[in-house]
Amino acid sequence: MNESSPLPSAAGLAGVVDEHLRWIGQWHRAAFFSLGDGAPLPTPVAFPAWVRGASGSELADQPAIDRLISLHDQMHRMARLVHMRAVEGQPPSLQSYEAVIEKFDEFMLLLRRIERAFSVAGSGIDPLTGLRNRTGLREEMEREVNRYRRTGRPFCVALCDLDKFKSVNDTYGHEAGDRVLMAAAGAVNQGIRSFDEAFRLGGEEILILLKDATIMDGYAVVERLRQDMETLSVAIGGGRAIRFTASFGLAEARPDCDPEDLVAEADAALYTAKRQGRNQVVRATPPV
Ligand code: GH3
Ligand code: MG
Ligand code: MG
Repeated sequence: MNESSPLPSAAGLAGVVDEHLRWIGQWHRAAFFSLGDGAPLPTPVAFPAWVRGASGSELADQPAIDRLISLHDQMHRMARLVHMRAVEGQPPSLQSYEAVIEKFDEFMLLLRRIERAFSVAGSGIDPLTGLRNRTGLREEMEREVNRYRRTGRPFCVALCDLDKFKSVNDTYGHEAGDRVLMAAAGAVNQGIRSFDEAFRLGGEEILILLKDATIMDGYAVVERLRQDMETLSVAIGGGRAIRFTASFGLAEARPDCDPEDLVAEADAALYTAKRQGRNQVVRATPPV
C-alpha cells in the first residue's frame, strides 16, 4: 500500500486566482494609461510557488497542469509584449489586446476547474464512485488494530478487483467502464454493513475494511457482495446493458499485525482468486 504524496492545496490556487485578478487590472492600466512610462509590471509569484509545491504529487502529473503552465507562460509573454510596445508609445491593437484577454480567460477557467478538482480530492471522496479515497485509510486501519487489541475481536480486509475490466473499456468504451465502476461501488455501499468502510484505492480496485469481523463473518459479507455484482445489469446507454464480475482476496487481522502486511495478504489472496479463474472470494492463509 503506497501512501500518496500530499495533495497540492486548493487554497494555494485560490491565491493564484486573486493574484492574477490584481495583475490583469495593473496590466490594463499599464497598457492603456501609462504610455511612455517605463515602470515594469509586477511579476506574479503565487503561481510558480504553487507549481513548485505541487511537483511530486500524483495530481500534479495530470495533463491539465501542463496545460495550465503553458497557458500561464503564453499569457504573460503576450502581455509583456503589449506592455513593452505601450512603453515605447504604441497603444495596443484590438487584436493583440483580445489575444491577451482570451488567454487570461482560458487560464482562469482552467485554474478554477483544477481548484475544484483539488478540493474534491482533498475532501477524501473519490468523485467518480463516491467511495472514500486512500486519504484516511491508514488512520482507519490503525484505529481497528487498536480496537482489536482492546477488545480481542478481530477485523478483516478485503480487496476487490473487477475482472477483465480493461476489456470492458476496450469493447464498450471508457464511459461504459466508468458506469460499471459506479455500479460496483454502489453494490459495495449497499452490501457492506453500516459500520464497514470502503476505499477506492485507484483504478478498479476497492479495499473494504470489515470491522469487528472474523474471517467467517467477512467471508459471508464479501461472498454476498460478489453474488450481487454478478447479477447486476449495468445500463451503458443506447438501450444496452452489460454484466460484470469481481474477484476478492480476504485476510483476517492478528493482534500484532501491521496494516500494510494485512493488505499484502489480502492482495496475495486476490491474486490467487484471479489465477483460479476470477469471480470468486479467496481467504488468505495466515503466515506461520
Ligand atoms: P484482471 O481480471 O486480471 O483484473 O484484468 P483487468 O483487465 O481488470 O486488469 P488490468 O489491471 O489490466 O486493467 C485495469 C483497467 O482499469 C485498466 C484501466 O484502463 C482501467 N481503469 C482504471 N481506472 C479507470 C477509470 O476510472 N475508469 C475506467 N473506465 N477505466 C479505468
Ligand atoms: Mg481488474
Ligand atoms: Mg486492477
